[in-house]
Amino acid sequence: MIRYRALGAAGTMGESAHLVELERAAVLLDAGCHPKTGAVASPRAAQAAGARAVVLSHAHLDHSGGLPIMLRGLPNTPVFATAGTRALTGLALRDHLGRVRAQAGKGGLPFSEAERLGLPWSVRPFGLPMDLWTGGPRCTLHDAGHIAGAAGVLLEHAGRRLFYTGDTHLAPRVWQRGAHWPAGPIDVLVMESTHGANPTLDDVEQPALEARLADLLESVLAGGGQVLLPVFAFGKAQEMLAQLACLRRAGRLSHVPVYLGGLAARVNALAERYTPHDARRHADLTLDEVPVRPLMPAMATHPPSGPAIFLVGSGMLAEGSLAGTMADQLMPDSKNAVIFVGYLDPDTPGYELRGGGRPGAARIESVPFSAHARRTDLVAAAAAMAPRHIVLVHGEESARLWLEAALMQRLPNTRIHRPMPDQVLELD
Ligand SMILES: [Zn+2]
Repeated sequence: MIRYRALGAAGTMGESAHLVELERAAVLLDAGCHPKTGAVASPRAAQAAGARAVVLSHAHLDHSGGLPIMLRGLPNTPVFATAGTRALTGLALRDHLGRVRAQAGKGGLPFSEAERLGLPWSVRPFGLPMDLWTGGPRCTLHDAGHIAGAAGVLLEHAGRRLFYTGDTHLAPRVWQRGAHWPAGPIDVLVMESTHGANPTLDDVEQPALEARLADLLESVLAGGGQVLLPVFAFGKAQEMLAQLACLRRAGRLSHVPVYLGGLAARVNALAERYTPHDARRHADLTLDEVPVRPLMPAMATHPPSGPAIFLVGSGMLAEGSLAGTMADQLMPDSKNAVIFVGYLDPDTPGYELRGGGRPGAARIESVPFSAHARRTDLVAAAAAMAPRHIVLVHGEESARLWLEAALMQRLPNTRIHRPMPDQVLELD
């Protein structure tokens, strides 16, 4: 018997935390916080089940941001992750504390610096099976193709097999080669659903996106303009730097200065250090191949003159962010462009700007790169694993419903589940 329970959000993309029990051996997968509210899941159910290990899929805060709080209720419980996830999570949690402190003061901090530094990490490489405790489940981390260090988690115990995809991207991108899911058959697949309701990516191929971005960059820069690429430090910044490196290798954009702002430089250094060369699409490509200049905060209000590319956070132009300030500076000049290269939440200034370009102002463009798999790729990969049960998580309800219908058609003998928070699934 495998028992599954979503401790955090399941029918949205909020805080991820999944409690799984394989023949009563309880393991917690992820402990995130909600990206907007900061809400975290309670450790009570994990305590009651006697969870003896946490496995962290990756460093994004919606998967890692509740970890210090969760561990208050699970003292002496080790946190298994790749070295990349350990390093990037440390940075993400420190940045999170800094932003909360700036907004709410010291009294509003969700956890302490000591708790962040004292996380009981147990680092494991990709592809090497390990017992989580003596006589406990065997765990293997599989490259998820999402951000540096990100893993899908295979648990095997007492003849049962469960695979949790975490956030995953299956096809190769510029920097990362794409996910490596384990071979089936499998009893339970816990699968992310981010793009389940997004038909626009179904026929979009990575090379077409890369070509479109390259053409846009060349046309704006050739006209003497400047380009703002709002990026997330954890993931998108690395993909865009790799893209620029490939373009330079092809003899394009060789002499245009590239500025990098915010947290991305530190994330790049860790991503470069902890991404194995066989996890890269181009084994010889490094993130320091393109010389970058640091974008100091003062430069956001007084950008350097002349054609240039600015890789700056936040990816959604959050209030007060460097990218938000730079967008205000670049918008009045029609030679310039703001090119969005990822997801935009409808409640953000980036979303508003993307929908409101105006004549005489800078160009607003969008190239839909994503760190999450296309829904068609998810269905194909799930079918290849021949699971007896599929648990759909990390997606809006419309996304889970589309995937449920597509999977039922493709896998008529598989049971598909759309759990609500705290609902317990008994999976025979
Ligand atoms: Zn993620």
